[in-house]
Amino acid sequence: MNKTASKKSAKKKTSTKRTARKRAASPARGVKNMKTTTTKRMKGPAGVIRSVNPFTEEVMNELMVMSPAEVGAIIARSREAFASWRDKTVSERVYYVKQLAGVLRAEKRNYAELITKEMGKPIKDALAEVEKCATLCDYYAGNAARFLTSEMVETEAKKSYVAFEPLGIVLAVEPWNFPFWQVFRAAVPAVSAGNVVVLKHASNVPMTALAIEDAFRKAGFPENVFRTLLIDPPAAVKLIDDDLVDAVALTGSNRAGEEIGAHAGGKIKKLVLELGGSDPFIVLDDADVEKAGRTAANARMVNSGQSCIAAKRFIVMESVAEEFTKHFIARLREMKIGDPMDETTDIGPLARKDIRDGLKAQLRDAKLKGAKIVELPQPLSKGWFFAPCVVLKPTPGMKVLTDEVFGPIAPIVVVKNEDEAVRAANNTEYGLGAAIWTKDTARAERLSRRIEAGFVAINDMVRSDPRLPFGGVKKSGVGRELSHFGILEFVNIKTVVVKE
Ligand code: NAP
Repeated sequence: MNKTASKKSAKKKTSTKRTARKRAASPARGVKNMKTTTTKRMKGPAGVIRSVNPFTEEVMNELMVMSPAEVGAIIARSREAFASWRDKTVSERVYYVKQLAGVLRAEKRNYAELITKEMGKPIKDALAEVEKCATLCDYYAGNAARFLTSEMVETEAKKSYVAFEPLGIVLAVEPWNFPFWQVFRAAVPAVSAGNVVVLKHASNVPMTALAIEDAFRKAGFPENVFRTLLIDPPAAVKLIDDDLVDAVALTGSNRAGEEIGAHAGGKIKKLVLELGGSDPFIVLDDADVEKAGRTAANARMVNSGQSCIAAKRFIVMESVAEEFTKHFIARLREMKIGDPMDETTDIGPLARKDIRDGLKAQLRDAKLKGAKIVELPQPLSKGWFFAPCVVLKPTPGMKVLTDEVFGPIAPIVVVKNEDEAVRAANNTEYGLGAAIWTKDTARAERLSRRIEAGFVAINDMVRSDPRLPFGGVKKSGVGRELSHFGILEFVNIKTVVVKE
Protein backbone atom coordinates (compact mmCIF):
# COMPACT_ATOMS: atom_id res chain seq x y z
CA MET A 1 0.00 0.00 0.00
CA ASN A 2 1.45 3.44 -0.89
CA LYS A 3 1.63 6.31 1.62
CA THR A 4 -1.47 8.15 0.35
CA ALA A 5 -3.54 4.99 0.27
CA SER A 6 -2.48 4.03 3.76
CA LYS A 7 -3.25 7.57 5.04
CA LYS A 8 -6.68 7.41 3.41
CA SER A 9 -7.33 4.00 4.92
CA ALA A 10 -6.26 5.16 8.39
CA LYS A 11 -8.51 8.22 8.08
CA LYS A 12 -11.42 6.01 6.99
CA LYS A 13 -10.87 3.67 9.94
CA THR A 14 -10.84 6.58 12.42
CA SER A 15 -13.99 8.05 10.98
CA THR A 16 -15.75 4.65 11.05
CA LYS A 17 -14.74 4.32 14.68
CA ARG A 18 -16.07 7.78 15.45
CA THR A 19 -19.38 7.06 13.71
CA ALA A 20 -19.71 3.85 15.65
CA ARG A 21 -18.97 5.56 18.96
CA LYS A 22 -21.48 8.25 18.09
CA ARG A 23 -24.06 5.57 17.32
CA ALA A 24 -23.43 3.93 20.64
CA ALA A 25 -23.68 7.14 22.58
CA SER A 26 -26.81 8.53 20.99
CA PRO A 27 -30.26 7.01 20.71
CA ALA A 28 -31.53 5.39 17.52
CA ARG A 29 -33.22 8.11 15.57
CA GLY A 30 -35.19 7.23 12.47
CA VAL A 31 -35.58 3.57 13.38
CA LYS A 32 -38.32 3.55 10.73
CA ASN A 33 -35.75 3.81 8.00
CA MET A 34 -33.20 1.60 9.66
CA LYS A 35 -30.99 -0.01 7.06
CA THR A 36 -29.72 -3.51 7.54
CA THR A 37 -26.32 -2.92 6.05
CA THR A 38 -23.49 -5.35 6.49
CA THR A 39 -20.54 -3.67 8.14
CA LYS A 40 -17.11 -5.01 8.93
CA ARG A 41 -16.37 -5.95 12.49
CA MET A 42 -14.76 -2.94 14.11
CA LYS A 43 -12.03 -3.62 16.56
CA GLY A 44 -11.70 -1.38 19.59
CA PRO A 45 -10.53 -1.72 23.15
CA ALA A 46 -14.04 -1.22 24.47
CA GLY A 47 -15.44 -3.96 22.19
CA VAL A 48 -18.46 -4.07 19.95
CA ILE A 49 -22.02 -5.32 20.11
CA ARG A 50 -23.23 -7.06 16.97
CA SER A 51 -26.69 -7.25 15.52
CA VAL A 52 -26.92 -10.44 13.46
CA ASN A 53 -29.95 -11.70 11.54
CA PRO A 54 -30.51 -15.34 12.65
CA PHE A 55 -32.30 -16.21 9.40
CA THR A 56 -29.77 -14.82 6.93
CA GLU A 57 -26.79 -15.01 9.34
CA GLU A 58 -25.91 -11.53 8.04
CA VAL A 59 -24.24 -9.00 10.35
CA MET A 60 -26.68 -6.07 10.20
CA ASN A 61 -24.91 -3.64 12.44
CA GLU A 62 -22.06 -3.27 14.89
CA LEU A 63 -22.12 -0.77 17.69
CA MET A 64 -19.36 0.26 20.04
CA VAL A 65 -19.84 -0.63 23.67
CA MET A 66 -20.22 2.58 25.69
CA SER A 67 -17.15 3.72 27.57
CA PRO A 68 -17.26 4.05 31.39
CA ALA A 69 -17.28 7.85 30.93
CA GLU A 70 -20.30 7.69 28.61
CA VAL A 71 -22.12 5.42 31.05
CA GLY A 72 -21.24 7.69 33.96
CA ALA A 73 -22.60 10.71 32.12
CA ILE A 74 -25.89 8.95 31.38
CA ILE A 75 -26.25 7.85 34.99
CA ALA A 76 -25.63 11.41 36.18
CA ARG A 77 -28.31 12.70 33.81
CA SER A 78 -30.70 9.93 34.92
CA ARG A 79 -30.14 11.00 38.52
CA GLU A 80 -31.03 14.60 37.60
CA ALA A 81 -34.11 13.41 35.70
CA PHE A 82 -35.23 11.44 38.75
CA ALA A 83 -35.22 14.56 40.91
CA SER A 84 -38.01 16.15 38.88
CA TRP A 85 -39.75 12.99 37.61
CA ARG A 86 -40.42 11.78 41.16
CA ASP A 87 -42.18 15.07 41.96
CA LYS A 88 -44.73 14.72 39.19
CA THR A 89 -48.13 13.31 40.09
CA VAL A 90 -48.92 9.80 38.94
CA SER A 91 -51.48 11.24 36.51
CA GLU A 92 -48.81 13.48 35.00
CA ARG A 93 -46.49 10.51 34.60
CA VAL A 94 -48.98 8.13 33.06
CA TYR A 95 -49.92 10.76 30.49
CA TYR A 96 -46.61 9.83 28.83
CA VAL A 97 -47.27 6.13 29.29
CA LYS A 98 -50.52 6.59 27.36
CA GLN A 99 -48.60 8.43 24.64
CA LEU A 100 -46.15 5.55 24.56
CA ALA A 101 -48.99 3.15 23.74
CA GLY A 102 -49.82 5.40 20.79
CA VAL A 103 -46.22 5.39 19.55
CA LEU A 104 -46.09 1.60 19.73
CA ARG A 105 -49.29 1.25 17.71
CA ALA A 106 -48.22 3.85 15.15
CA GLU A 107 -44.80 2.22 14.67
CA LYS A 108 -45.91 -1.36 15.20
CA ARG A 109 -44.76 -2.74 11.86
CA ASN A 110 -41.33 -1.07 12.06
CA TYR A 111 -40.70 -2.33 15.55
CA ALA A 112 -41.97 -5.81 14.70
CA GLU A 113 -39.73 -6.05 11.63
CA LEU A 114 -36.77 -4.97 13.70
CA ILE A 115 -37.51 -7.68 16.29
CA THR A 116 -37.87 -10.31 13.57
CA LYS A 117 -34.65 -9.29 11.83
CA GLU A 118 -32.67 -9.12 15.03
CA MET A 119 -33.79 -12.27 16.86
CA GLY A 120 -35.76 -14.34 14.35
CA LYS A 121 -39.26 -14.25 15.89
CA PRO A 122 -41.98 -14.91 13.28
CA ILE A 123 -43.37 -11.54 12.18
CA LYS A 124 -46.96 -12.29 13.24
CA ASP A 125 -45.68 -12.96 16.78
CA ALA A 126 -43.52 -9.83 16.72
CA LEU A 127 -46.55 -7.72 15.76
CA ALA A 128 -48.51 -9.30 18.61
CA GLU A 129 -45.64 -8.59 21.01
CA VAL A 130 -45.61 -4.87 20.19
CA GLU A 131 -49.40 -4.69 20.52
CA LYS A 132 -49.16 -6.45 23.90
CA CYS A 133 -46.70 -3.78 25.07
CA ALA A 134 -49.23 -1.12 24.06
CA THR A 135 -51.92 -2.96 26.05
CA LEU A 136 -49.61 -3.01 29.06
CA CYS A 137 -49.12 0.77 28.72
CA ASP A 138 -52.91 1.24 28.58
CA TYR A 139 -53.26 -0.92 31.67
CA TYR A 140 -50.79 1.02 33.80
CA ALA A 141 -51.98 4.37 32.38
CA GLY A 142 -55.47 3.42 33.56
CA ASN A 143 -54.60 1.86 36.92
CA ALA A 144 -51.29 3.19 38.26
CA ALA A 145 -52.89 6.09 40.16
CA ARG A 146 -55.18 3.65 41.97
CA PHE A 147 -52.32 1.23 42.73
CA LEU A 148 -50.20 4.05 44.17
CA THR A 149 -52.86 5.78 46.25
CA SER A 150 -51.80 6.03 49.89
CA GLU A 151 -53.54 3.56 52.16
CA MET A 152 -55.08 4.97 55.34
CA VAL A 153 -54.73 2.71 58.42
CA GLU A 154 -56.69 3.07 61.67
CA THR A 155 -54.32 3.38 64.68
CA GLU A 156 -54.22 5.36 67.94
CA ALA A 157 -52.51 8.23 66.10
CA LYS A 158 -54.35 11.16 64.56
CA LYS A 159 -53.52 9.79 61.16
CA SER A 160 -51.57 6.78 59.86
CA TYR A 161 -51.03 5.87 56.27
CA VAL A 162 -48.82 4.00 53.86
CA ALA A 163 -47.39 5.96 50.93
CA PHE A 164 -45.73 4.47 47.85
CA GLU A 165 -42.69 6.43 46.78
CA PRO A 166 -40.13 5.73 44.04
CA LEU A 167 -36.70 4.26 44.78
CA GLY A 168 -34.56 6.07 42.17
CA ILE A 169 -32.67 4.57 39.24
CA VAL A 170 -33.79 1.06 38.35
CA LEU A 171 -31.31 -0.99 36.31
CA ALA A 172 -33.25 -3.35 34.02
CA VAL A 173 -31.15 -6.22 32.66
CA GLU A 174 -33.25 -7.93 30.01
CA PRO A 175 -33.18 -10.90 27.60
CA TRP A 176 -33.62 -11.09 23.83
CA ASN A 177 -36.46 -13.62 23.64
CA PHE A 178 -39.30 -11.09 23.98
CA PRO A 179 -37.09 -8.07 23.38
CA PHE A 180 -39.88 -5.47 23.64
CA TRP A 181 -42.23 -7.17 26.08
CA GLN A 182 -39.62 -7.98 28.75
CA VAL A 183 -38.37 -4.40 28.77
CA PHE A 184 -41.81 -2.83 28.81
CA ARG A 185 -43.14 -4.99 31.60
CA ALA A 186 -40.20 -4.02 33.80
CA ALA A 187 -39.88 -0.36 32.77
CA VAL A 188 -43.46 0.88 32.45
CA PRO A 189 -44.59 0.15 36.02
CA ALA A 190 -41.23 1.40 37.31
CA VAL A 191 -41.49 4.79 35.58
CA SER A 192 -45.20 5.08 36.40
CA ALA A 193 -44.20 4.82 40.06
CA GLY A 194 -41.72 7.70 39.62
CA ASN A 195 -38.48 5.79 39.08
CA VAL A 196 -36.17 6.30 36.13
CA VAL A 197 -34.85 3.30 34.22
CA VAL A 198 -31.54 2.41 32.59
CA LEU A 199 -31.68 -0.64 30.33
CA LYS A 200 -28.90 -3.14 29.75
CA HIS A 201 -30.42 -5.26 27.01
CA ALA A 202 -29.12 -8.58 25.70
CA SER A 203 -26.10 -8.15 23.43
CA ASN A 204 -27.80 -9.70 20.39
CA VAL A 205 -30.58 -7.07 20.27
CA PRO A 206 -28.81 -3.69 20.39
CA MET A 207 -30.92 -2.07 17.68
CA THR A 208 -34.10 -3.09 19.47
CA ALA A 209 -32.67 -1.63 22.68
CA LEU A 210 -32.10 1.69 20.93
CA ALA A 211 -35.52 1.57 19.27
CA ILE A 212 -37.16 1.25 22.69
CA GLU A 213 -35.28 4.29 23.96
CA ASP A 214 -36.46 6.12 20.86
CA ALA A 215 -40.07 5.11 21.52
CA PHE A 216 -39.92 6.70 24.99
CA ARG A 217 -38.50 9.85 23.43
CA LYS A 218 -41.20 9.94 20.74
CA ALA A 219 -43.83 9.57 23.48
CA GLY A 220 -42.53 12.85 24.95
CA PHE A 221 -41.07 11.47 28.18
CA PRO A 222 -38.70 14.00 29.78
CA GLU A 223 -35.09 13.32 28.71
CA ASN A 224 -33.30 10.57 30.64
CA VAL A 225 -36.34 9.03 32.31
CA PHE A 226 -35.55 5.95 30.21
CA ARG A 227 -32.08 5.32 28.77
CA THR A 228 -30.45 2.43 26.99
CA LEU A 229 -26.89 1.55 27.93
CA LEU A 230 -24.87 -0.41 25.39
CA ILE A 231 -22.73 -2.29 27.89
CA ASP A 232 -21.55 -5.80 28.66
CA PRO A 233 -22.47 -7.85 31.75
CA PRO A 234 -19.43 -6.82 33.86
CA ALA A 235 -20.27 -3.15 33.29
CA ALA A 236 -23.84 -3.81 34.44
CA VAL A 237 -22.55 -5.49 37.58
CA LYS A 238 -20.20 -2.55 38.18
CA LEU A 239 -23.18 -0.17 38.24
CA ILE A 240 -24.48 -2.19 41.17
CA ASP A 241 -21.10 -2.47 42.92
CA ASP A 242 -20.43 1.25 42.54
CA ASP A 243 -23.84 2.13 44.03
CA LEU A 244 -24.83 4.01 40.89
CA VAL A 245 -28.29 2.44 40.70
CA ASP A 246 -30.88 1.97 43.44
CA ALA A 247 -32.65 -1.22 42.39
CA VAL A 248 -32.26 -4.02 39.87
CA ALA A 249 -34.69 -5.99 37.71
CA LEU A 250 -33.23 -8.97 35.86
CA THR A 251 -34.99 -11.29 33.47
CA GLY A 252 -32.63 -13.96 32.26
CA SER A 253 -30.87 -17.19 33.00
CA ASN A 254 -30.10 -18.60 36.43
CA ARG A 255 -26.41 -18.03 35.86
CA ALA A 256 -27.07 -14.29 35.44
CA GLY A 257 -29.53 -14.36 38.34
CA GLU A 258 -26.96 -15.81 40.70
CA GLU A 259 -24.36 -13.22 39.78
CA ILE A 260 -26.62 -10.17 39.75
CA GLY A 261 -28.37 -11.42 42.89
CA ALA A 262 -25.07 -11.81 44.74
CA HIS A 263 -23.92 -8.30 43.85
CA ALA A 264 -27.30 -6.68 44.56
CA GLY A 265 -27.42 -8.56 47.86
CA GLY A 266 -23.92 -7.37 48.69
CA LYS A 267 -25.01 -3.78 48.20
CA ILE A 268 -28.45 -4.27 49.84
CA LYS A 269 -30.41 -3.30 46.74
CA LYS A 270 -34.02 -4.08 45.96
CA LEU A 271 -34.07 -6.87 43.40
CA VAL A 272 -36.55 -8.71 41.21
CA LEU A 273 -35.36 -11.84 39.42
CA GLU A 274 -37.36 -13.45 36.61
CA LEU A 275 -35.34 -16.53 35.71
CA GLY A 276 -35.62 -19.82 33.90
CA GLY A 277 -38.41 -22.35 33.83
CA SER A 278 -39.11 -25.98 33.01
CA ASP A 279 -42.89 -25.84 33.07
CA PRO A 280 -44.81 -29.11 33.34
CA PHE A 281 -47.91 -29.63 31.20
CA ILE A 282 -50.00 -32.25 32.99
CA VAL A 283 -52.69 -34.21 31.18
CA LEU A 284 -55.02 -36.25 33.38
CA ASP A 285 -57.03 -39.28 32.25
CA ASP A 286 -60.30 -37.32 31.89
CA ALA A 287 -58.92 -34.45 29.77
CA ASP A 288 -60.10 -33.37 26.34
CA VAL A 289 -57.07 -35.12 24.87
CA GLU A 290 -57.21 -33.72 21.35
CA LYS A 291 -57.42 -30.13 22.62
CA ALA A 292 -54.71 -30.84 25.20
CA GLY A 293 -52.38 -32.37 22.58
CA ARG A 294 -52.82 -29.49 20.15
CA THR A 295 -52.48 -26.81 22.83
CA ALA A 296 -49.43 -28.60 24.24
CA ALA A 297 -47.67 -28.40 20.86
CA ASN A 298 -48.50 -24.68 20.65
CA ALA A 299 -47.29 -24.19 24.23
CA ARG A 300 -43.95 -25.87 23.45
CA MET A 301 -43.36 -23.99 20.20
CA VAL A 302 -44.19 -20.52 21.44
CA ASN A 303 -41.44 -18.17 20.23
CA SER A 304 -39.86 -21.12 18.40
CA GLY A 305 -39.50 -22.84 21.77
CA GLN A 306 -37.56 -19.97 23.36
CA SER A 307 -39.86 -18.86 26.15
CA CYS A 308 -39.44 -19.10 29.90
CA ILE A 309 -43.09 -20.18 30.17
CA ALA A 310 -43.12 -22.52 27.18
CA ALA A 311 -44.38 -25.92 28.31
CA LYS A 312 -41.18 -27.96 28.55
CA ARG A 313 -42.12 -31.30 30.10
CA PHE A 314 -45.32 -33.13 29.13
CA ILE A 315 -46.59 -35.35 31.92
CA VAL A 316 -49.40 -37.54 30.66
CA MET A 317 -51.46 -40.31 32.26
CA GLU A 318 -50.91 -43.75 30.77
CA SER A 319 -54.49 -44.26 29.53
CA VAL A 320 -54.37 -41.16 27.28
CA ALA A 321 -50.66 -41.01 26.45
CA GLU A 322 -50.86 -42.58 22.98
CA GLU A 323 -53.74 -40.38 21.84
CA PHE A 324 -52.09 -37.27 23.32
CA THR A 325 -48.83 -38.00 21.48
CA LYS A 326 -50.69 -38.52 18.21
CA HIS A 327 -52.44 -35.13 18.44
CA PHE A 328 -49.25 -33.42 19.63
CA ILE A 329 -47.26 -34.66 16.63
CA ALA A 330 -50.13 -33.94 14.22
CA ARG A 331 -50.25 -30.32 15.39
CA LEU A 332 -46.44 -30.04 15.10
CA ARG A 333 -46.63 -31.25 11.50
CA GLU A 334 -49.14 -28.50 10.66
CA MET A 335 -46.77 -25.76 11.79
CA LYS A 336 -44.87 -23.91 9.12
CA ILE A 337 -41.15 -23.54 9.73
CA GLY A 338 -39.18 -21.04 7.70
CA ASP A 339 -38.61 -17.38 6.86
CA PRO A 340 -39.69 -15.44 9.94
CA MET A 341 -40.64 -12.45 7.76
CA ASP A 342 -43.30 -14.56 6.05
CA GLU A 343 -46.68 -13.81 7.69
CA THR A 344 -47.62 -17.50 7.55
CA THR A 345 -44.54 -18.80 9.40
CA ASP A 346 -45.14 -20.36 12.83
CA ILE A 347 -41.60 -21.35 13.79
CA GLY A 348 -38.53 -19.30 12.90
CA PRO A 349 -34.83 -19.85 13.46
CA LEU A 350 -33.34 -19.79 16.94
CA ALA A 351 -31.95 -16.42 17.97
CA ARG A 352 -28.30 -17.45 18.23
CA LYS A 353 -26.10 -20.26 16.99
CA ASP A 354 -24.93 -21.18 20.51
CA ILE A 355 -28.55 -21.82 21.53
CA ARG A 356 -28.79 -24.37 18.71
CA ASP A 357 -25.54 -25.98 19.85
CA GLY A 358 -26.92 -26.29 23.39
CA LEU A 359 -30.10 -27.96 22.14
CA LYS A 360 -28.09 -30.41 20.03
CA ALA A 361 -26.17 -31.45 23.15
CA GLN A 362 -29.39 -31.92 25.15
CA LEU A 363 -30.90 -34.07 22.39
CA ARG A 364 -27.70 -36.10 21.99
CA ASP A 365 -27.78 -36.83 25.73
CA ALA A 366 -31.36 -38.16 25.44
CA LYS A 367 -30.41 -40.34 22.45
CA LEU A 368 -27.35 -41.76 24.21
CA LYS A 369 -29.43 -42.57 27.28
CA GLY A 370 -31.93 -44.54 25.20
CA ALA A 371 -34.82 -42.20 24.45
CA LYS A 372 -36.80 -42.60 21.23
CA ILE A 373 -36.86 -39.42 19.16
CA VAL A 374 -39.50 -38.36 16.64
CA GLU A 375 -37.89 -35.61 14.56
CA LEU A 376 -39.55 -33.35 12.03
CA PRO A 377 -37.54 -32.61 8.87
CA GLN A 378 -35.04 -29.75 8.95
CA PRO A 379 -36.54 -27.14 6.63
CA LEU A 380 -33.60 -25.07 5.41
CA SER A 381 -29.84 -25.34 5.31
CA LYS A 382 -29.20 -21.68 6.16
CA GLY A 383 -30.32 -19.90 9.33
CA TRP A 384 -30.10 -21.22 12.88
CA PHE A 385 -33.00 -23.64 12.61
CA PHE A 386 -33.57 -26.59 14.86
CA ALA A 387 -36.09 -29.20 13.72
CA PRO A 388 -38.87 -29.67 16.32
CA CYS A 389 -38.82 -33.09 17.94
CA VAL A 390 -40.60 -35.24 20.48
CA VAL A 391 -38.64 -37.31 23.02
CA LEU A 392 -40.43 -40.52 23.99
CA LYS A 393 -39.58 -42.61 27.04
CA PRO A 394 -37.33 -39.99 28.68
CA THR A 395 -35.78 -41.12 31.97
CA PRO A 396 -35.22 -38.92 35.06
CA GLY A 397 -31.50 -38.09 34.64
CA MET A 398 -31.80 -36.88 31.04
CA LYS A 399 -30.90 -33.24 30.34
CA VAL A 400 -34.19 -32.73 28.49
CA LEU A 401 -35.87 -33.14 31.89
CA THR A 402 -33.31 -31.69 34.29
CA ASP A 403 -32.14 -28.63 32.29
CA GLU A 404 -34.16 -25.74 30.97
CA VAL A 405 -34.65 -26.65 27.28
CA PHE A 406 -34.80 -23.37 25.37
CA GLY A 407 -35.99 -24.63 21.99
CA PRO A 408 -38.39 -27.01 20.21
CA ILE A 409 -37.69 -30.30 22.06
CA ALA A 410 -40.69 -31.95 23.74
CA PRO A 411 -40.17 -34.83 26.20
CA ILE A 412 -43.33 -36.79 27.01
CA VAL A 413 -43.32 -38.51 30.41
CA VAL A 414 -45.96 -41.18 31.00
CA VAL A 415 -47.32 -41.54 34.56
CA LYS A 416 -49.73 -43.97 36.22
CA ASN A 417 -51.69 -41.64 38.50
CA GLU A 418 -52.15 -38.15 39.93
CA ASP A 419 -49.55 -38.57 42.68
CA GLU A 420 -46.94 -39.66 40.17
CA ALA A 421 -47.88 -36.68 37.98
CA VAL A 422 -47.36 -34.23 40.86
CA ARG A 423 -44.03 -35.84 41.78
CA ALA A 424 -42.80 -35.62 38.19
CA ALA A 425 -44.04 -32.03 37.82
CA ASN A 426 -42.24 -30.89 40.97
CA ASN A 427 -39.09 -32.87 40.18
CA THR A 428 -37.25 -29.78 38.92
CA GLU A 429 -35.30 -26.93 40.43
CA TYR A 430 -37.60 -24.50 38.61
CA GLY A 431 -41.04 -23.25 39.59
CA LEU A 432 -42.33 -20.77 37.03
CA GLY A 433 -45.56 -22.02 35.42
CA ALA A 434 -47.59 -25.21 35.01
CA ALA A 435 -50.63 -26.38 33.09
CA ILE A 436 -53.20 -28.99 34.19
CA TRP A 437 -55.70 -30.55 31.81
CA THR A 438 -58.86 -32.29 33.04
CA LYS A 439 -62.60 -31.87 32.50
CA ASP A 440 -63.00 -31.79 36.30
CA THR A 441 -61.87 -28.26 37.14
CA ALA A 442 -62.38 -28.80 40.90
CA ARG A 443 -59.91 -31.71 40.65
CA ALA A 444 -57.48 -29.43 38.81
CA GLU A 445 -57.79 -26.65 41.41
CA ARG A 446 -57.10 -29.19 44.18
CA LEU A 447 -54.08 -30.42 42.26
CA SER A 448 -52.86 -26.86 41.57
CA ARG A 449 -52.20 -26.40 45.31
CA ARG A 450 -49.65 -29.24 45.16
CA ILE A 451 -47.76 -27.76 42.21
CA GLU A 452 -44.66 -25.70 43.02
CA ALA A 453 -45.05 -22.83 40.55
CA GLY A 454 -45.92 -19.14 40.38
CA PHE A 455 -48.68 -19.67 37.81
CA VAL A 456 -51.05 -22.55 37.10
CA ALA A 457 -53.19 -22.58 33.95
CA ILE A 458 -56.09 -25.03 33.96
CA ASN A 459 -57.18 -26.28 30.52
CA ASP A 460 -55.01 -23.65 28.88
CA MET A 461 -51.36 -22.81 28.33
CA VAL A 462 -49.49 -20.41 30.59
CA ARG A 463 -49.46 -16.87 29.20
CA SER A 464 -48.57 -13.56 30.78
CA ASP A 465 -51.24 -10.89 31.15
CA PRO A 466 -50.67 -7.32 32.42
CA ARG A 467 -53.57 -7.80 34.88
CA LEU A 468 -52.07 -10.87 36.56
CA PRO A 469 -48.87 -11.18 38.60
CA PHE A 470 -46.05 -13.07 36.94
CA GLY A 471 -43.01 -14.71 38.50
CA GLY A 472 -41.67 -17.90 39.96
CA VAL A 473 -40.68 -19.84 43.03
CA LYS A 474 -37.62 -22.06 43.65
CA LYS A 475 -34.87 -21.22 41.12
CA SER A 476 -37.29 -19.43 38.80
CA GLY A 477 -36.80 -16.20 40.68
CA VAL A 478 -37.90 -13.79 43.36
CA GLY A 479 -40.53 -11.06 43.20
CA ARG A 480 -43.28 -10.42 40.69
CA GLU A 481 -43.85 -8.40 37.57
CA LEU A 482 -47.18 -7.13 36.18
CA SER A 483 -50.46 -6.24 37.97
CA HIS A 484 -50.39 -4.11 41.15
CA PHE A 485 -47.84 -6.56 42.61
CA GLY A 486 -45.37 -5.59 39.88
CA ILE A 487 -45.66 -1.83 40.35
CA LEU A 488 -45.21 -2.20 44.12
CA GLU A 489 -41.86 -3.99 43.72
CA PHE A 490 -39.98 -0.78 42.97
CA VAL A 491 -41.42 1.57 45.57
CA ASN A 492 -40.57 2.55 49.09
CA ILE A 493 -43.60 1.40 51.07
CA LYS A 494 -43.42 4.28 53.50
CA THR A 495 -45.34 4.37 56.78
CA VAL A 496 -46.35 7.83 58.01
CA VAL A 497 -47.77 8.27 61.51
CA VAL A 498 -49.12 11.68 62.56
CA LYS A 499 -49.68 12.58 66.23
CA GLU A 500 -50.80 15.95 67.57
P1 NAP B 1 -28.98 -14.46 29.90
O1 NAP B 1 -27.85 -14.98 29.13
O2 NAP B 1 -28.98 -14.60 31.36
O3 NAP B 1 -29.11 -12.91 29.51
C1 NAP B 1 -30.12 -12.07 30.05
C2 NAP B 1 -29.54 -10.70 30.28
O4 NAP B 1 -28.60 -10.77 31.34
C3 NAP B 1 -28.78 -10.16 29.08
O5 NAP B 1 -28.93 -8.77 29.04
C4 NAP B 1 -27.34 -10.54 29.41
O6 NAP B 1 -26.40 -9.74 28.76
C5 NAP B 1 -27.32 -10.33 30.90
N1 NAP B 1 -26.33 -11.13 31.60
C6 NAP B 1 -25.95 -12.39 31.34
N2 NAP B 1 -25.05 -12.81 32.23
C7 NAP B 1 -24.84 -11.78 33.08
C8 NAP B 1 -24.00 -11.60 34.20
N3 NAP B 1 -23.20 -12.57 34.65
N4 NAP B 1 -24.04 -10.40 34.83
C9 NAP B 1 -24.84 -9.42 34.38
N5 NAP B 1 -25.65 -9.53 33.33
C10 NAP B 1 -25.67 -10.70 32.68
O7 NAP B 1 -30.35 -15.07 29.39
P2 NAP B 1 -30.86 -15.18 27.89
O8 NAP B 1 -30.23 -16.33 27.27
O9 NAP B 1 -30.71 -13.85 27.22
O10 NAP B 1 -32.41 -15.39 28.11
C11 NAP B 1 -32.97 -16.64 28.29
C12 NAP B 1 -33.21 -16.91 29.76
O11 NAP B 1 -34.10 -15.93 30.29
C13 NAP B 1 -33.90 -18.23 29.96
O12 NAP B 1 -33.36 -18.87 31.08
C14 NAP B 1 -35.35 -17.82 30.19
O13 NAP B 1 -36.12 -18.77 30.89
C15 NAP B 1 -35.17 -16.56 30.97
N6 NAP B 1 -36.40 -15.76 30.91
C16 NAP B 1 -37.15 -15.67 32.03
C17 NAP B 1 -38.36 -14.97 32.01
C18 NAP B 1 -39.21 -14.86 33.23
O14 NAP B 1 -40.08 -14.03 33.25
N7 NAP B 1 -38.98 -15.67 34.24
C19 NAP B 1 -38.76 -14.36 30.82
C20 NAP B 1 -37.95 -14.47 29.69
C21 NAP B 1 -36.76 -15.18 29.75
P3 NAP B 1 -25.59 -10.30 27.47
O15 NAP B 1 -26.60 -10.59 26.42
O16 NAP B 1 -24.69 -9.17 27.14
O17 NAP B 1 -24.87 -11.53 27.92
